[in-house]
Amino acid sequence: MRSVSIFGATGSIGEQTVDLLQRAGGAEAFRIVALTGGRNIARLAEMARALRAEVAVCADPAGLAELRTRLEGSGVAAAAGPEAIAEAADRPADWVMSAIVGAAGLEPGLRALRHGTTLALANKESLVTAGPLVMAEAARHGARILPVDSEHSAIFQALVGEDVTAVERIILTASGGALRDWPLEQLARATVRDALAHPNWAMGQRITIDSASMFNKALEVIETREYFGVEPDQVEVIIHPESLIHSMVGFRDGAIMAHMGAPDMRHSIGYALNWPDRSHLPVARLDLAQIARLSFRAPEMARYPALRLAREVMARRGLAGAAFNAAKEVALDHFLAGGIGFMQMAEVVEAVLAALDGELSKEIGQMTLEDVQGMDHLARVRANEIAQVAAGAR
Ligand code: NDP
Repeated sequence: MRSVSIFGATGSIGEQTVDLLQRAGGAEAFRIVALTGGRNIARLAEMARALRAEVAVCADPAGLAELRTRLEGSGVAAAAGPEAIAEAADRPADWVMSAIVGAAGLEPGLRALRHGTTLALANKESLVTAGPLVMAEAARHGARILPVDSEHSAIFQALVGEDVTAVERIILTASGGALRDWPLEQLARATVRDALAHPNWAMGQRITIDSASMFNKALEVIETREYFGVEPDQVEVIIHPESLIHSMVGFRDGAIMAHMGAPDMRHSIGYALNWPDRSHLPVARLDLAQIARLSFRAPEMARYPALRLAREVMARRGLAGAAFNAAKEVALDHFLAGGIGFMQMAEVVEAVLAALDGELSKEIGQMTLEDVQGMDHLARVRANEIAQVAAGAR
């Protein structure tokens, strides 16, 4: 029986993973080792009972008493706090879903890789902040990383049976987010509510806003470079409003392989779960005659400064990805709290990268988790300072 753990089980990706596991037989078909959540204790306990998990862990230590109460008599062990999440990652499992949001997802993923697991990686921040470290750890322990981000799953699938050296370019598709058709001069006034109105994908709140600002795509550009080992200038972004092509690979003979499907994350979660096989998935089938046309347009750089910043981060590498991601997370917090405006998020991130310029270098082979966490902390402190000043000047 295959053993499975889900980190970030109560989130958008986690819920969809649980849905697929339940449809594939749930506790009768899988041995569920660990399920982790953040603050949603009720849902964590409910899924841990339903899937008969060995342990359920919530990130917030204040939630432990409630988790224990909710799991009473179920036989599921309860634990709480970041150390308990790290310990849960040390429990060997054949297949591990990494779906914690943000930099907190890095350590559990690294720990799981050390057990030679198959890591289904939704937490893109792992590759953005510590790509070389994560990929080296996987290689060292014979572990496999399967991308879950829909774009990277699409690229992975387009590369099956192909020689990677024949790849000329990778074309990431982007919906353009909720504000893609807004006049440029109005973007500064966009509210959280405006940025949350995503045209195609139903996702968590943070990633939906990152989609409107294209910080999400910026992370994915860096993720592509780290996961597939291509050069930065081989990664392109194209706006494809229908979100039906999930990404494309262009080869040196001019051929382009595109992956199509409904905008449903269960495509890529299910692919990672069933890999190397394909099994039935409960996703909508495309009616191409009804869709009739697909459209594309180049992203305007003035609208999406995050894409320019991603290029800078790839040129710097080292700890630049950790600083970029942390600054982005803090800038997003300030936008969500109403402190800074929509376009100020990129200004804050750019200012943080400039302020930390002298500290971003790091020999790739010598990068450690502590280096990454140290830069993450430093960039958060700087980003908070800079965002507060920006909020005051607004
Ligand atoms: P959500 O915000 O919906 O869920 C995040 C999960 O992480 C929840 O289980 C949450 O717990 C938990 N969590 C939050 N903070 C912490 C913490 N500090 N420590 C431990 N656990 C924590 O995020 P998504 O599911 O949308 O995204 C998860 C990851 O997948 C992200 O890296 C995202 O970029 C990536 N991704 C998401 C896609 C999507 O469609 N949603 C698409 C592609 C990639 P709780 O809810 O209980 O507080």
